Amino acid sequence: MPLSKERLDNFKNKLEKEKASLEAELKELNPDKLPDFGSDVDHFDEEADEAEELTTNVSIANAIKERLGDIDSSLRKIGLGTYGNCEECGKEIDMDVLEASPESRLCKNCKHGQKSI
Ligand SMILES: [Zn+2]
Repeated sequence: MPLSKERLDNFKNKLEKEKASLEAELKELNPDKLPDFGSDVDHFDEEADEAEELTTNVSIANAIKERLGDIDSSLRKIGLGTYGNCEECGKEIDMDVLEASPESRLCKNCKHGQKSI
């Protein structure tokens, strides 16, 4: 059964809200900012900590960007009318999967079939 307009609107709202909060999170991480090593050139330990923190931020930022990509493609699919279909087998994704994560691209079966993720 295809998704009703109400459900689609509901998912769209959820996705847009999540997108906004992820974008805010990403902004906060500011991964493009160069590490601020400050003027205490004597404190090498501190510098190492800051570099490490930056690396962590970059990997968090990449994970967020990946999710944003999924969300964008879901929003696009809502516009195209193909939202809710598995990208692998084309079957409808279970409602509880979509409820849990509206940006899901795969149905349960295909998701389990994947080694990564
Ligand atoms: Zn599938």
